[in-house]
Amino acid sequence: MYSQDCKDVLNELKTSRHDGLTTADANERLAKYGPNEIQQEVQEPAWKAYLHALTEPIIIILWIAIGLTLISASYDFFIKKDPPSGMSALYEGIVILIVILINSGLTYWQRLSAQKSLDALSSASRHQSNVLRDQTWEKIDASKLVEGDIVEVKMGDFIEADVRFLSVNELQVNESHLTGESDAIQKDFQTLPEHTDLGDRTNMGFSGSTVVNGSGIGVVTATGSHTELGKIADLLNRTPTGKTPIERAINQLTKRLMIAAIGVVMIAITYDLVKEYLATNTITFSGLMASVSGAIALAVAAIPDSMPVVLSIVLTIGARTLARNHGLIKSLSSVETLGATTFIASDKTGTLTKNEMTVTRFFANGRHFAADANGYDPVGEITSFEEDETGQPADYLPFIKSAVLNNEAQIQRNENGNYEPLGNPTDVSLIVLGSKAKITRANLLNQTDDEDFDILRVLPFESDRKMMSTVVKFGDSYKLFTKGAPDVIMQHTTDVSLKDQIVPLEQGRELLEKQILDYADDALRTIAVTKRTLTKQQALHATQAELEQDLTLLGIAGIIDPPRAEVRTSIANLHKAGVQVVMITGDHPATAQAIAYRLGIIRSQQARTLEGQEIEELSDAQLFKIVPDIRVYARVSPEHKQRIIKALQKHDQVVAMTGDGVNDAPALRAADIGIAMGINGTEVTKDSADLILLDDKFTTIETSVAAGRTIFANIKNFMRQELTTNVAEVLSILLGTFFITRSIGHVSELTPTLTAIMVLWVNMISDSLPAFALGYDGAEHDVMSEKPRNVHESLLANHLLSRIAVRGAVMGLTVFVAFYWAAQSGMPVNKAQTVAFLTLVFGQLWHVFDARTTHTLFRRSPFSNPYLMAAVLFAAISSLAITMLPFFNTLMGTSSLTWPVYLAVIFVPALPTFVLSGLKEMFKINFW
Ligand code: ADP
Ligand code: MG
Repeated sequence: MYSQDCKDVLNELKTSRHDGLTTADANERLAKYGPNEIQQEVQEPAWKAYLHALTEPIIIILWIAIGLTLISASYDFFIKKDPPSGMSALYEGIVILIVILINSGLTYWQRLSAQKSLDALSSASRHQSNVLRDQTWEKIDASKLVEGDIVEVKMGDFIEADVRFLSVNELQVNESHLTGESDAIQKDFQTLPEHTDLGDRTNMGFSGSTVVNGSGIGVVTATGSHTELGKIADLLNRTPTGKTPIERAINQLTKRLMIAAIGVVMIAITYDLVKEYLATNTITFSGLMASVSGAIALAVAAIPDSMPVVLSIVLTIGARTLARNHGLIKSLSSVETLGATTFIASDKTGTLTKNEMTVTRFFANGRHFAADANGYDPVGEITSFEEDETGQPADYLPFIKSAVLNNEAQIQRNENGNYEPLGNPTDVSLIVLGSKAKITRANLLNQTDDEDFDILRVLPFESDRKMMSTVVKFGDSYKLFTKGAPDVIMQHTTDVSLKDQIVPLEQGRELLEKQILDYADDALRTIAVTKRTLTKQQALHATQAELEQDLTLLGIAGIIDPPRAEVRTSIANLHKAGVQVVMITGDHPATAQAIAYRLGIIRSQQARTLEGQEIEELSDAQLFKIVPDIRVYARVSPEHKQRIIKALQKHDQVVAMTGDGVNDAPALRAADIGIAMGINGTEVTKDSADLILLDDKFTTIETSVAAGRTIFANIKNFMRQELTTNVAEVLSILLGTFFITRSIGHVSELTPTLTAIMVLWVNMISDSLPAFALGYDGAEHDVMSEKPRNVHESLLANHLLSRIAVRGAVMGLTVFVAFYWAAQSGMPVNKAQTVAFLTLVFGQLWHVFDARTTHTLFRRSPFSNPYLMAAVLFAAISSLAITMLPFFNTLMGTSSLTWPVYLAVIFVPALPTFVLSGLKEMFKINFW
């Protein structure tokens, strides 16, 4: 394609440069060649993923338990010749197996659906392409591109398929992913000789490249796996999405619990054997087997089997909550990192401010003017500000003409008759100013009707350069119009127009600098506007740097960009929550400072502002030293952002950073949380972000941080709930082993307090259902009044460990006492164990209302979470049911009780929670 003429390429692909494909034709091609997608991920086959779930550390304990039931069953069948006991051991094994299968199935399914729901949520971050179909430009999903589509790419876009360029405008592309060459490559549309190397095909754009400058129009020549990227896609091994930090922390915790469980089991078995030896002077095989079957329940009791599933569900619920608040999270791990954020570095324009720019004042030809501000309404007075009323349109016309011609923005009337901005807001403000002076690009064109008027080149605005230029041909003369940040422009300026004279810059410098500072102190954004006369040679061939010099300054515009009203409150809230807010902007330091002060980012207008220039001069060590105290960075280029992040991270800060341009992508990746704008952000930044603000608002960052903290709090709550239950289970069984040393009524000293199946039921049903309902809990009123969590801190810090220990111990004791009482009152084994089982179930169902607060259950309405109520009711009713239904009686060794006993096992277990919580409130006790 690169060696063919543009026209031939278009003919071959049966398309038209000016009409594009028809939708019908495009759909036909899509059906024929398939979507424009590359299957990059080497997906783990489903069976392998499922196998993984089957061998999670937690599940291994259950496999061991199955092994033990098999040994114990064969012993019962073949040696003891006691088939009923053998059968019940076998049942136990089967039930544990079922639990394993269900649990792993759930884990596996939850992984898939979490991924799917994240993918669905982030459909807004799916790549889009600007394409010409049926003669109109529209945005479509990049996956729907087909060969022959005419597409436009511009700075900040990805190139979504292989294209042959048909026209370009200062187009520069980074295709390092294919060629390893990290410098941007200038593109054009000249036909190239055959056998040109991939890296030299300057008339082609390749899928996956990023546009770093300018724009271009091209025709799609290959899509999906037929692209150059597709051909090597097999070689690209995407890094698999690893476990989230919290998943890792929980895995580590469960591994420790496993070791503890094995320890406890060993101790219990040794204890039994020693006891037997002391009593009879021998150790019998039957004694060993009896204590093994008790140990199975113990092993199962010690492990929070459902914790991984519950965690994953809670995180997914969190991601959905965030999405409802207009924060789109791209990976589950970011959900909890968000809550730990300590520094938020935010762009100013558009995020902290409204990005509704209006020129209110300007200084042209040495005179002051003011313009009426009516938003985007193109009508309004321009009045002279001079005392002697000498300011005339003659003074400002060259300034305004330059600003309007060097400009690609527009204003458009919508159906309601209101004006809408189209394009860069700064540029829009200048177009609106032009209209107030009756100068539009269209009437400038008409005026020069007889001349050959043409816009030859546009060097778009870049935040690195902070300038924008346009080369215009007027008949035989060529002019350059450049505008940009005044301090930058002045470095490229030689002359200035003052009171109808062109004088050397030095004569006007003082006056201009004072003027700029005046505007900036009033929080106005400033733009200097210039012109230059060029030769034809220069106009056509000079490089950007050669063009943008020897400028003549025509004037300076002062543009207001009002701060967003709600941001001030958000910042105050974040400060209260111990999160620092930093402003990073390309604007003038005084403008930045004035706005930062109005928003409450800095408390005094004297606060230090660091400029890009200064950052350049500082060493990393020097920057590290001052970075914690700086709240405003001005005249910053995207490269500086990375250094700022790294310096903050060295201080152990968790940094969230926003960005909207292509050059911001590396900084977003370096940040702990990269934040991109959903509306104004470029595709490239959205791709490298962790959080996308669907509404571009700073306030959404605040609500996301709050949501992140809430989710983390919920995770701690359900951990507390589950682990407390595990402690109670282990303890009640151990107490049985140690304190029931001879038979009581029908209960022998070898009968475990709870059977393994009962323990499994508690872990899988009555514990985990309420636990994941905790994921729906809202914020306990005060998440944003606490300091950010220390990411290095253990999950069990802040009294969580002691709370689990105390509450678990009391709950375990209650269960044991209930069991002991039942045995003493002469109940058969099944009934005594059922009493213990229900005491445990209701103990934890009462306890869950306390686990969800950092205070006590008296401070949080149980009705605030309907899911929790439903889960608790379901768990209560189903647990009661399995003691009444014959089928479950056989399967689980449960038995029905009399009504008074039922009432007792439902309400007595409430006592520990209510009494301990009451004492806690009365004596301000924190550790339980
Ligand atoms: P920020 O996004 O942080 O507000 P920018 O990088 O957009 O900063 O702008 C930095 C400076 O560049 C502005 O203060 C202004 O002087 C200048 N500038 C911004 N937009 C344009 C534009 N479209 N044309 C020329 N100069 C611009
Ligand atoms: Mg900007």
